[in-house]
Amino acid sequence: MNPQHFLHILKQIAKLDPVQKQTLTTALDSQQNPILSRLSKEIIQHSKCIHCQSDRLRKYGFSHGRQRFFCNVCRKSFVCTRGSAYFYQHKPELWQKYLEHMIELDSIRRCSKAVGICVTTSFNWRHRYMKATQDTYESKLEGIVEADETYFRTSKKGERNLTRPARQRGTKASTRGINHLDWVSVLVAKDRNHHEYDQVLSKIDAAKINECLGCKIADESVLCTDGQPAYNQLCKVHHLFHVVIKNNQTQQGLYHIQNINNYHSQLKRWYLKMHGVASKNLPKYLGWFRMLDWHKYQTFSSDIKTEVEKLFEFKLLQVQQHNFKT
Ligand SMILES: [Zn+2]
Repeated sequence: MNPQHFLHILKQIAKLDPVQKQTLTTALDSQQNPILSRLSKEIIQHSKCIHCQSDRLRKYGFSHGRQRFFCNVCRKSFVCTRGSAYFYQHKPELWQKYLEHMIELDSIRRCSKAVGICVTTSFNWRHRYMKATQDTYESKLEGIVEADETYFRTSKKGERNLTRPARQRGTKASTRGINHLDWVSVLVAKDRNHHEYDQVLSKIDAAKINECLGCKIADESVLCTDGQPAYNQLCKVHHLFHVVIKNNQTQQGLYHIQNINNYHSQLKRWYLKMHGVASKNLPKYLGWFRMLDWHKYQTFSSDIKTEVEKLFEFKLLQVQQHNFKT
């Protein structure tokens, strides 16, 4: 807009009555990009420089619609998307719409059509968002923790130079039982506060389980498993009370592994809808499912909210926050 016209509009604001001012504020608020405002608010809240962690920040204008900040200590500037999954991503007006379609389990093609972007961009956005969720675990699982392992067929989708003939998705494994060439193992643990942890492992053994869960489960918690001997070392080292639920048992008082079994079956059902996931991308998909599960629980437990409010509370927006160094 012509700067003179803009100045003229600014001068007119003083003449507005309170109702008109309120209407104008609402109209201006609705024009803001919710994700960019959230990222900006987060920087202000944390008040930390991305480069040097100093709290001496000030606003420094806008760059391509993104709030810019300037650090008075290191004299460097950065935009609000820096360090988040939205950094260097174009078309901010479409981000939220895309996320809504992604949460509704729309395919890459359907998302691209609904939002108006090309299929390659849709693929890149999807993987960018999923990657942001990959390593976002709760810091500790505690109290009663259930742990179990599950398996997914190995998929080399998209890879070149296969060492075996290509196969169709959904066909049976070449050998019976769990062969580590045909199956990818995933260790999942969950406590009763809906904190989850999962990890893709090359194979399930005591050392691997100890390495993964040792720092994740609070000492002296209760660990419920199906009796896989690989958990014994973990329980011994971290003083966990080990409750073994045998196949013919459903539970022992408070202790059971129904939550983890339920999580596995929901994960498998959801995974089938993804129409073939390459094994190399499995951790991203596990992260995304973890977030969806968390979101479902949060929506359940909170009061009725609008879809936009729910989306704001969706953990994706929190996990895509800036990775401030500690
Ligand atoms: Zn700085």
